Amino acid sequence: MTKKFAVIVVGGGIVGATAACALAQAGIDVALLDARNPARTWPADPIDIRVSALTHASQNILRAVGAWDAMEQRGIGPYDHMHVWDADSAGVLHFDAADTEFSELGHIVENRVTVASLWDQLESLPSATILCPATVADLQINNDNAQIVLSDGTILAADLVIAADGRDSALRQMAGIQTTGWEYKQDGLVATISSENSHQFTAWQRFLPEGPLALLPLKDGHCSIVWTLSHDIAQDYLKLSDADFLQTLEHASEGILGKMLTVGPRGAFPLRFQYAQQYSADHFVLIGDAAHAMHPLAGQGANAGLLDAAAIAELIIKAGQAGRPIGSHKTLRQYERWRKGDNLAMMSSMDVINKMYTTDNEAFRQLRGTGMSWVNHSAWVKNYFNRYAMGLRDDLPDMACGI
Ligand SMILES: Cc1cc2nc3c(=O)[nH]c(=O)nc-3n(C[C@H](O)[C@H](O)[C@H](O)COP(=O)(O)OP(=O)(O)OC[C@H]3O[C@@H](n4cnc5c(N)ncnc54)[C@H](O)[C@@H]3O)c2cc1C
Repeated sequence: MTKKFAVIVVGGGIVGATAACALAQAGIDVALLDARNPARTWPADPIDIRVSALTHASQNILRAVGAWDAMEQRGIGPYDHMHVWDADSAGVLHFDAADTEFSELGHIVENRVTVASLWDQLESLPSATILCPATVADLQINNDNAQIVLSDGTILAADLVIAADGRDSALRQMAGIQTTGWEYKQDGLVATISSENSHQFTAWQRFLPEGPLALLPLKDGHCSIVWTLSHDIAQDYLKLSDADFLQTLEHASEGILGKMLTVGPRGAFPLRFQYAQQYSADHFVLIGDAAHAMHPLAGQGANAGLLDAAAIAELIIKAGQAGRPIGSHKTLRQYERWRKGDNLAMMSSMDVINKMYTTDNEAFRQLRGTGMSWVNHSAWVKNYFNRYAMGLRDDLPDMACGI
């Protein structure tokens, strides 16, 4: 027998779980399925190596879907300054929350905190069904609905299937949607460290010839590092002893936090630039990394995905209220027009910045140093960049504006 839902969301990471919460909260009959059950509790001490810098827009969305309070209780790390400097020029940029109407620029949050809080919230919503563990074996798009066949033979049908199954999205492939992109041949090396000096609630980022090194302040005084390195060097650094790794890190960060004291487990993630050529088909839509994967140098991937989730939820809820079919091409094209341009602009700027800072052209290096200093001294331009990085820009979904 076929189980029917208004919407099926495949993938319960940060982005898919947010979309499911937003829809279920509006009384829409939604099923969330994921291949894996996320962690809901964990030992007090070790911090997850996967963290995200979340913008104010993301905070508004996560608050609107009812997850933010639980995230605060589990622990989030506010930061009120951002300091960016260039290893190869005199370029420096400094952002201060005091120049904005907010008390902080954003929050550093462990990904597991966000996901667990969203899943807890989803379980409390009567119009939500969680199917987990569940693996999709087949997707069929028909004239009047989309059908999913699970690997245990269960058949599900919905007016709309939302694929939020990450950058290697199986659903995207099943829907026959092609991607454009390339491997950066760089890895993002991540770890949690402690240092002699306080992080001062500042997100530090030093641009090195290999790629940027970010030291992100965590709630308990540790920092999470995201260090972009060529693939081979990242793999070598994974093998270093803790003492050698800490010494290399101290040198790379110019001793900005004093002596590096401890490091936890290390991991490295290959980085890719990738976008789906279409975001939608009839009764089918892509959100989050399934639609776009970008360089993490400005920490915007999850933030962009949360805007996708809020946008598609807003359009579906409005279509439902107006009595229009929620899986119609018209509604889904509206979503695609809304989000694709914004995402492409964001990922292209990350790409350009990455290329600008990994070039060995001397004239270019001097130019970027002068550019950084010019931005730093121009209040208007700096404010523009600051607000963009905080997720405060035009044409945001209502939820992202706190409406
Ligand atoms: C080193 C690094 C640092 C980053 N830092 C930041 C940052 O500071 N700020 C920021 O905004 N972003 C950051 N990002 C990007 C961010 O991590 C991603 O954009 C975000 O996690 C994507 O979320 P998602 O829900 O779209 O996909 P995922 O997190 O990949 O979730 C996909 C979900 O789908 C499930 N799934 C997969 N396949 C199937 C299937 N076939 N059937 C059922 N379920 C399936 C998975 O189990 C998973 O739960 C960073 C990325 C990297 C690599």
